[in-house]
Amino acid sequence: MNQGQAPDSGVLFDRRIPFDQREAALSEAKGLPQIVLSPLSISDVELLGVGALTPLTGFLHRVDYERVVNEMHLTDGHVWSIPITLPVDRELASSIKDGQRVTLIEPDGHILAIVTVEEKFDYDKKREAREVFRTEDEKHPGVARLYQQGEVLLGGPIEVIDLPNNRSFMDYRLTPAETRALFAQRGWKTVVGFQTRNPVHRSHEYIQKVALEVVDGLLLHPLVGETQAEDIPADVRMASYRVLLDNYYPLDRVALSVFPAAMRYAGPREAIFHALCRKNYGCTHFIVGRDHAGVGNYYGTYDAQRIFDNFTEAELGITPLKFEHTYYCKKCQAIVSSKTCPHDSSYHLVFSGTEVRRRLRAGEPLPIEFTRPEVGQVLIDGLRDRQNGNGQ
Ligand SMILES: [Zn+2]
Repeated sequence: MNQGQAPDSGVLFDRRIPFDQREAALSEAKGLPQIVLSPLSISDVELLGVGALTPLTGFLHRVDYERVVNEMHLTDGHVWSIPITLPVDRELASSIKDGQRVTLIEPDGHILAIVTVEEKFDYDKKREAREVFRTEDEKHPGVARLYQQGEVLLGGPIEVIDLPNNRSFMDYRLTPAETRALFAQRGWKTVVGFQTRNPVHRSHEYIQKVALEVVDGLLLHPLVGETQAEDIPADVRMASYRVLLDNYYPLDRVALSVFPAAMRYAGPREAIFHALCRKNYGCTHFIVGRDHAGVGNYYGTYDAQRIFDNFTEAELGITPLKFEHTYYCKKCQAIVSSKTCPHDSSYHLVFSGTEVRRRLRAGEPLPIEFTRPEVGQVLIDGLRDRQNGNGQ
């Protein structure tokens, strides 16, 4: 389904239908069979709509699905690591004919898109789990979601009528075309993307600024689609990014925008996916930390970095920048890593994610060597409001 030019030529496959055809499409959509989408599929429709998943033009056909699962490539040769699919249950699938057009809606009935179902096919969930998530364990959140989803996949191109309703942070929700335009306007030739679903602590700030020493601009690109409930709520994170940038970053060299994807927790494969999406947003470089997009102990420390060695940078179209874990060293009096500091761990200020969340929820400040005080305060206030039921 990936006809057309290669994404490295800069073309974006924006799947939104032109405004002057919207009324006609809406009227057609109202008369078609409907599929109510999961939160994951709603995110995928938005990503497809704005061109963030270029060169995809819809949900994968069987041949592309097989090659992505087995070989991390599309049949046209492009690197692609995560199967973007439209799962439905068997009963619904049997009511849809090949070639039929079907309307995709949100649970509240909001019409998002029309998909032309060119193919319906069965798939092996355990194999997808093994290949994509590297485990068949149903305790893995991505695998659990895969096991719960429908038994049949629908493949075909999508035409997006409306982006999802529940889209927060509209001021920060730039499409790939918009981030590219912003970078061009600022004269940035090289831009590093930073994916995060967590607050930015001093260690991440350090990594971003080290990268910024060698490129023109930084895109801080937090993921705001569905994540596990224990992650810090997206609106609290956004407020913490804002206060950090305003106080500690050169604003002419940084852009804050949100990435509307859901987390899949596919670790190494998701790191590749995140990089490919950021290329579409106009980034030339992408920061890959240790255990990128991981969960639990399913992936080895360096797996998300090593997986990039399977591809050339020309194939990927974006340069991965691989970083070690970083932390404050009391002896060096600086943020360091095992590559830059000779001292033993007793000098190092390291907290687990669990301990950080515990402290924030208890209202206990984090050391200034770990978190900027303005950031810590926003997080503590945000989580307190949430606990008191004042949040959204
Ligand atoms: Zn040191």
